[in-house]
Amino acid sequence: MGESRQPHLVVFTGAGISAESGIQTFRASDGLWADHPVEEVATPGAWRRDPARVLRFYDARRDQVRRARPNPAHKALAALETQGFRVSIITQNIDDLHERAGSRRVLHLHGEVLKARSTVDPRLRYPLPRGGIRLGDVCDKGSQLRPDVVWFGEAVPLFADACELAAEADLLLVVGTSLAVMPAASLLEYAPFDAPCVLVDPEAEALAPPGVTRLSQPAGKGVPALVRHWRREGRLWVPETLLE
Ligand code: NAD
Repeated sequence: MGESRQPHLVVFTGAGISAESGIQTFRASDGLWADHPVEEVATPGAWRRDPARVLRFYDARRDQVRRARPNPAHKALAALETQGFRVSIITQNIDDLHERAGSRRVLHLHGEVLKARSTVDPRLRYPLPRGGIRLGDVCDKGSQLRPDVVWFGEAVPLFADACELAAEADLLLVVGTSLAVMPAASLLEYAPFDAPCVLVDPEAEALAPPGVTRLSQPAGKGVPALVRHWRREGRLWVPETLLE
């Protein structure tokens, strides 16, 4: 079967899919951001005011990501690819847990914490310098390097690519996102009208927009359960039994 005719699962993930791997979410009261107000570490203004603090914050994020391991949700999505499903992942996460689980098509909407980029040209991206980014590390154009992360208040360069992918979905699976960060959250509107959309999140009842099926479970339970159904039947569908 040609790839274009394989069922295409488009997965949209947020911080919640990495929570069971030990990476704190954004909005949880014990979340990493509780100690670090967003405007002091993840905005262009923060970078202008205190770049050393911003770099220290991302050094700590990187340590956390390196210690974390993919959980059953990341692994189930990767396993689906080996069974003839076409799986495209659009993640808001800056960690690399989807890749480490084995997923091959991963679009990082908000960048990747394990990479560096130029401050003057976002297309100039680099492997992380040994020991992390330091003040004085520069790109090929001579400007300071910064984390390859999209900060609050910045444009999201890959948003159009993500919308194109969403428009190809036979089923859109949304996992572990509060759908509060724009424009990312509006991605759901780009899925085809007749493609089912499922949200797996312990808070799904409260968060899911109208028309979205809610699976109020942690990702490590809900995602493998869905994937088991799809692998068994060789098709993408929303099993009623899971929703009871
Ligand atoms: P968010 O913190 O706003 O929402 C997290 C969601 O995860 C919540 O809806 C919560 O109910 C859910 N959740 C908590 N535990 C879960 C579990 N075990 N299984 C499934 N869902 C669970 O996160 P967001 O919507 O992704 O937006 C936050 C922004 O912060 C994003 O832009 C992202 O780039 C960034 N961020 C990234 C990481 C990471 O890379 N792992 C971590 C924190 C924040």
